[in-house]
Amino acid sequence: MRTQIAAANWKMNLTLQQAEALVDELLQTPHSVNADQLAIFAVPFPYLITVKNKLAGKQNIFVAAQNCYHKKNGAYTGEVSAEMLKSIGIEYVVLGHSERREYFNETNAMLGEKVNIAFEYGIKPIFCCGEPLSIREAGSQNSFVETQLKESLFHLTADQLKGFIIAYEPIWAIGTGKTATSDQAQEMHAHIRNVFATQYGNDVADTISILYGGSVKASNAKEIFGKADVDGGLVGGASLIAAEFATIIDSLK
Ligand code: PEP
Repeated sequence: MRTQIAAANWKMNLTLQQAEALVDELLQTPHSVNADQLAIFAVPFPYLITVKNKLAGKQNIFVAAQNCYHKKNGAYTGEVSAEMLKSIGIEYVVLGHSERREYFNETNAMLGEKVNIAFEYGIKPIFCCGEPLSIREAGSQNSFVETQLKESLFHLTADQLKGFIIAYEPIWAIGTGKTATSDQAQEMHAHIRNVFATQYGNDVADTISILYGGSVKASNAKEIFGKADVDGGLVGGASLIAAEFATIIDSLK
Protein backbone atom coordinates (compact mmCIF):
# COMPACT_ATOMS: atom_id res chain seq x y z
CA MET A 1 0.00 0.00 0.00
CA ARG A 2 1.39 3.39 -1.01
CA THR A 3 1.44 6.11 1.63
CA GLN A 4 -1.82 8.03 1.49
CA ILE A 5 -1.36 11.73 2.18
CA ALA A 6 -3.56 14.70 3.03
CA ALA A 7 -1.41 17.81 2.59
CA ALA A 8 -2.63 21.27 3.53
CA ASN A 9 -1.31 24.27 1.63
CA TRP A 10 -2.07 27.39 3.62
CA LYS A 11 -0.40 29.59 0.98
CA MET A 12 0.06 33.21 2.15
CA ASN A 13 -2.86 33.16 4.57
CA LEU A 14 -3.43 33.56 8.33
CA THR A 15 -1.77 35.56 11.07
CA LEU A 16 0.25 33.65 13.65
CA GLN A 17 -2.70 33.79 16.06
CA GLN A 18 -5.10 32.48 13.42
CA ALA A 19 -2.65 29.75 12.48
CA GLU A 20 -2.36 28.60 16.10
CA ALA A 21 -6.13 28.65 16.52
CA LEU A 22 -6.58 26.59 13.34
CA VAL A 23 -4.15 23.91 14.50
CA ASP A 24 -5.76 23.82 17.96
CA GLU A 25 -9.20 23.45 16.42
CA LEU A 26 -8.04 20.74 14.06
CA LEU A 27 -6.47 18.77 16.90
CA GLN A 28 -9.76 18.98 18.78
CA THR A 29 -11.78 17.86 15.76
CA PRO A 30 -12.05 14.07 15.62
CA HIS A 31 -9.95 12.57 12.82
CA SER A 32 -7.46 9.79 12.52
CA VAL A 33 -4.18 9.44 10.66
CA ASN A 34 -3.45 5.73 10.32
CA ALA A 35 -0.07 4.02 10.11
CA ASP A 36 0.07 4.11 6.29
CA GLN A 37 -1.21 7.67 6.07
CA LEU A 38 0.33 11.12 6.56
CA ALA A 39 -1.10 14.56 7.23
CA ILE A 40 1.26 17.35 6.21
CA PHE A 41 0.83 21.08 6.82
CA ALA A 42 2.61 23.39 4.38
CA VAL A 43 2.64 26.64 6.30
CA PRO A 44 4.24 30.06 5.76
CA PHE A 45 7.92 30.24 6.78
CA PRO A 46 7.40 32.36 9.94
CA TYR A 47 5.05 29.74 11.43
CA LEU A 48 7.07 26.59 10.70
CA ILE A 49 8.57 26.22 14.18
CA THR A 50 5.39 27.16 16.02
CA VAL A 51 3.23 24.72 14.08
CA LYS A 52 5.88 22.02 14.32
CA ASN A 53 5.98 22.41 18.10
CA LYS A 54 2.20 22.28 18.33
CA LEU A 55 2.15 19.02 16.39
CA ALA A 56 5.08 17.46 18.27
CA GLY A 57 4.37 13.87 19.26
CA LYS A 58 1.43 13.48 16.87
CA GLN A 59 1.80 10.29 14.91
CA ASN A 60 2.30 10.72 11.14
CA ILE A 61 1.64 14.47 11.15
CA PHE A 62 4.35 16.71 9.68
CA VAL A 63 5.03 20.30 8.76
CA ALA A 64 6.28 21.36 5.32
CA ALA A 65 7.72 24.53 3.89
CA GLN A 66 5.99 25.90 0.79
CA ASN A 67 9.23 26.51 -1.07
CA CYS A 68 13.00 26.72 -0.75
CA TYR A 69 15.67 28.39 -2.85
CA HIS A 70 17.60 26.46 -5.48
CA LYS A 71 21.02 27.62 -4.27
CA LYS A 72 22.82 26.38 -1.20
CA ASN A 73 23.48 29.70 0.56
CA GLY A 74 24.89 33.16 -0.06
CA ALA A 75 23.82 36.60 -1.22
CA TYR A 76 20.17 35.87 -2.02
CA THR A 77 18.37 38.38 0.14
CA GLY A 78 14.92 37.27 1.21
CA GLU A 79 15.32 33.63 0.24
CA VAL A 80 15.21 30.54 2.47
CA SER A 81 17.55 27.60 1.93
CA ALA A 82 17.00 23.88 2.33
CA GLU A 83 19.79 23.88 4.90
CA MET A 84 17.87 26.41 7.00
CA LEU A 85 14.76 24.26 6.83
CA LYS A 86 16.75 21.22 7.85
CA SER A 87 18.28 23.10 10.76
CA ILE A 88 14.81 23.71 12.24
CA GLY A 89 13.75 20.10 11.72
CA ILE A 90 11.53 20.47 8.65
CA GLU A 91 11.21 17.23 6.70
CA TYR A 92 9.04 18.18 3.71
CA VAL A 93 8.97 20.99 1.17
CA VAL A 94 6.41 21.80 -1.54
CA LEU A 95 8.23 22.50 -4.81
CA GLY A 96 6.93 23.79 -8.11
CA HIS A 97 3.46 24.88 -7.06
CA SER A 98 1.79 26.46 -10.10
CA GLU A 99 1.64 29.80 -8.28
CA ARG A 100 5.44 29.69 -7.87
CA ARG A 101 5.86 28.72 -11.51
CA GLU A 102 3.56 31.53 -12.68
CA TYR A 103 4.34 34.45 -10.34
CA PHE A 104 7.98 33.69 -9.58
CA ASN A 105 9.05 32.29 -12.95
CA GLU A 106 10.13 28.91 -11.63
CA THR A 107 11.23 26.76 -14.54
CA ASN A 108 11.47 22.99 -14.83
CA ALA A 109 15.28 23.27 -14.76
CA MET A 110 15.27 25.44 -11.63
CA LEU A 111 12.88 23.01 -9.97
CA GLY A 112 15.29 20.19 -10.76
CA GLU A 113 17.92 22.14 -8.79
CA LYS A 114 15.48 22.67 -5.92
CA VAL A 115 14.76 18.96 -5.78
CA ASN A 116 18.51 18.26 -5.65
CA ILE A 117 19.11 20.70 -2.82
CA ALA A 118 16.16 19.30 -0.87
CA PHE A 119 17.56 15.77 -1.24
CA GLU A 120 21.01 16.97 -0.24
CA TYR A 121 19.59 18.02 3.12
CA GLY A 122 17.30 15.04 3.53
CA ILE A 123 14.10 17.01 2.95
CA LYS A 124 11.38 15.24 1.00
CA PRO A 125 9.89 17.23 -1.88
CA ILE A 126 6.18 17.34 -2.63
CA PHE A 127 6.61 18.05 -6.32
CA CYS A 128 3.74 19.83 -8.08
CA CYS A 129 2.85 19.53 -11.73
CA GLY A 130 -0.23 20.32 -13.78
CA GLU A 131 -1.47 21.97 -16.92
CA PRO A 132 -3.19 25.32 -17.60
CA LEU A 133 -6.68 25.43 -19.09
CA SER A 134 -5.46 26.19 -22.63
CA ILE A 135 -3.38 23.00 -22.65
CA ARG A 136 -6.29 20.94 -21.31
CA GLU A 137 -8.59 22.40 -23.95
CA ALA A 138 -6.07 21.51 -26.64
CA GLY A 139 -5.96 17.96 -25.30
CA SER A 140 -2.20 18.15 -24.69
CA GLN A 141 -2.22 17.72 -20.93
CA ASN A 142 -0.46 14.35 -20.91
CA SER A 143 2.60 15.48 -22.84
CA PHE A 144 2.69 18.81 -20.95
CA VAL A 145 2.84 17.10 -17.55
CA GLU A 146 5.25 14.47 -18.85
CA THR A 147 7.67 17.23 -19.89
CA GLN A 148 7.43 18.86 -16.46
CA LEU A 149 8.32 15.55 -14.81
CA LYS A 150 11.09 14.65 -17.24
CA GLU A 151 12.81 18.04 -17.11
CA SER A 152 12.76 18.30 -13.33
CA LEU A 153 13.01 14.73 -12.08
CA PHE A 154 14.49 12.33 -14.60
CA HIS A 155 18.06 13.00 -13.47
CA LEU A 156 17.18 11.39 -10.12
CA THR A 157 18.10 7.81 -9.27
CA ALA A 158 15.54 5.07 -8.81
CA ASP A 159 16.35 5.04 -5.10
CA GLN A 160 15.63 8.76 -4.80
CA LEU A 161 12.26 8.29 -6.50
CA LYS A 162 11.12 5.41 -4.31
CA GLY A 163 8.37 6.81 -2.10
CA PHE A 164 8.56 10.20 -3.86
CA ILE A 165 5.52 12.50 -3.60
CA ILE A 166 3.94 14.14 -6.65
CA ALA A 167 0.97 16.51 -6.51
CA TYR A 168 -0.97 16.72 -9.77
CA GLU A 169 -2.78 20.04 -9.77
CA PRO A 170 -4.56 21.11 -12.95
CA ILE A 171 -4.21 24.89 -12.80
CA TRP A 172 -7.78 25.43 -13.98
CA ALA A 173 -9.01 23.66 -10.84
CA ILE A 174 -6.90 25.50 -8.24
CA GLY A 175 -8.89 27.91 -6.11
CA THR A 176 -11.58 28.06 -8.76
CA GLY A 177 -14.12 25.75 -7.18
CA LYS A 178 -13.89 23.78 -10.42
CA THR A 179 -12.67 20.29 -9.57
CA ALA A 180 -11.42 17.79 -12.10
CA THR A 181 -13.77 14.84 -12.11
CA SER A 182 -12.48 11.81 -10.27
CA ASP A 183 -12.15 10.09 -13.67
CA GLN A 184 -10.05 12.97 -15.05
CA ALA A 185 -7.84 12.78 -11.95
CA GLN A 186 -7.47 9.01 -12.24
CA GLU A 187 -6.64 9.25 -15.94
CA MET A 188 -3.79 11.73 -15.33
CA HIS A 189 -2.52 9.93 -12.23
CA ALA A 190 -2.32 6.67 -14.18
CA HIS A 191 -0.45 8.53 -16.92
CA ILE A 192 2.02 9.99 -14.41
CA ARG A 193 2.61 6.58 -12.87
CA ASN A 194 3.17 5.17 -16.33
CA VAL A 195 5.71 7.90 -17.14
CA PHE A 196 7.74 6.79 -14.12
CA ALA A 197 7.20 3.10 -14.86
CA THR A 198 8.52 3.53 -18.38
CA GLN A 199 11.68 5.26 -17.19
CA TYR A 200 12.29 3.56 -13.83
CA GLY A 201 10.17 0.40 -13.82
CA ASN A 202 7.05 -0.59 -11.90
CA ASP A 203 9.06 -1.23 -8.73
CA VAL A 204 9.64 2.51 -8.47
CA ALA A 205 6.40 3.80 -10.00
CA ASP A 206 4.26 1.74 -7.65
CA THR A 207 5.83 3.40 -4.60
CA ILE A 208 5.19 6.99 -5.69
CA SER A 209 2.35 8.76 -3.88
CA ILE A 210 0.45 10.89 -6.39
CA LEU A 211 -1.80 13.48 -4.74
CA TYR A 212 -4.58 15.36 -6.51
CA GLY A 213 -4.96 19.09 -5.94
CA GLY A 214 -7.62 21.50 -7.15
CA SER A 215 -10.67 22.49 -5.11
CA VAL A 216 -10.63 19.35 -2.97
CA LYS A 217 -13.09 19.70 -0.12
CA ALA A 218 -14.83 17.55 2.46
CA SER A 219 -17.71 16.83 0.10
CA ASN A 220 -15.63 15.50 -2.83
CA ALA A 221 -12.48 14.08 -1.19
CA LYS A 222 -13.73 10.54 -0.71
CA GLU A 223 -14.81 10.17 -4.32
CA ILE A 224 -11.49 11.51 -5.67
CA PHE A 225 -9.26 9.66 -3.17
CA GLY A 226 -11.18 6.46 -3.93
CA LYS A 227 -9.60 6.19 -7.38
CA ALA A 228 -6.87 3.59 -7.76
CA ASP A 229 -3.97 5.92 -8.59
CA VAL A 230 -5.01 8.82 -6.37
CA ASP A 231 -3.07 8.65 -3.11
CA GLY A 232 -4.58 11.64 -1.36
CA GLY A 233 -4.67 15.37 -1.95
CA LEU A 234 -2.92 18.72 -1.75
CA VAL A 235 -5.56 21.07 -0.40
CA GLY A 236 -5.59 24.87 -0.44
CA GLY A 237 -8.79 26.68 0.53
CA ALA A 238 -10.44 23.83 2.42
CA SER A 239 -7.35 23.30 4.57
CA LEU A 240 -8.03 26.64 6.26
CA ILE A 241 -11.21 25.24 7.84
CA ALA A 242 -10.51 22.71 10.59
CA ALA A 243 -13.68 20.65 10.13
CA GLU A 244 -13.16 20.47 6.36
CA PHE A 245 -9.56 19.33 6.62
CA ALA A 246 -10.36 16.79 9.36
CA THR A 247 -12.96 15.22 7.04
CA ILE A 248 -10.45 15.29 4.17
CA ILE A 249 -7.93 13.41 6.33
CA ASP A 250 -10.62 10.87 7.17
CA SER A 251 -11.37 10.46 3.45
CA LEU A 252 -7.94 8.94 2.77
CA LYS A 253 -7.92 5.27 1.78
C1 PEP B 1 -3.41 24.41 -3.86
O1 PEP B 1 -3.14 25.49 -3.40
O2 PEP B 1 -2.49 23.61 -4.07
C2 PEP B 1 -4.80 24.08 -4.15
C3 PEP B 1 -5.07 22.93 -4.71
O3 PEP B 1 -5.73 25.02 -3.81
P1 PEP B 1 -7.33 24.79 -3.74
O4 PEP B 1 -7.55 23.53 -2.94
O5 PEP B 1 -7.85 25.99 -3.02
O6 PEP B 1 -7.84 24.66 -5.13
